[in-house]
Amino acid sequence: MLPGLPADIDQIKGFLHPEEAAALHRWARTQSAAGPLLEIGSYCGKSTLYLGIAARDNGSTVFALDHHRGSEEHQLGEMFHDPALYDAQMGQVDTFKEFRRNISRAGLDDTVVPVVAGSAAAARHWQTPLAMLFIDGGHSLDAALTDYRCWAGHLQRGGILAIHDVYLDAALGGQAPRAIYRLALQSGLFECCEQVESLAVLRRL
Ligand code: MG
Repeated sequence: MLPGLPADIDQIKGFLHPEEAAALHRWARTQSAAGPLLEIGSYCGKSTLYLGIAARDNGSTVFALDHHRGSEEHQLGEMFHDPALYDAQMGQVDTFKEFRRNISRAGLDDTVVPVVAGSAAAARHWQTPLAMLFIDGGHSLDAALTDYRCWAGHLQRGGILAIHDVYLDAALGGQAPRAIYRLALQSGLFECCEQVESLAVLRRL
């Protein structure tokens, strides 16, 4: 277990393979020495914790972007809906309370800066170059394309673009993350670094 992780990390809600978590942490450790990190789709903060403990060691920052209203698959009646993360009064998914609790309990309040907004709205006036971008937001083609188009250009040279849920086999998962992965490669601006389970890692040339 990585130092700095809460003992109950496996109880934290989220969809992250242990090998993917280890890879995210490893890349975040090197990249956070060069600048801030930005994650799209923090959900309850599981991946954020792996990025956060790495960034904290370098005195860096993780911007954790999520509207906290859940992706398509988290909505009421959908496959990954979690009643514990549903605000019945508002009639909306709300993962922010759980996210904040997990970040605070891990002592990462000074490292992780939540950006509670949609991807396009948050990007509109963004100016800060990023050393690492982790895209794990909505998996509709529209959402994935928006995330890529709004944020990939903010990566500094040598920056790392990590994309979650990239599956070669459509039977294993949706193809929107793979579509932006291919878009990045085809742009000629990125080179492939590694693929760990469904986590694809590219470097901005
Ligand atoms: Mg994911």
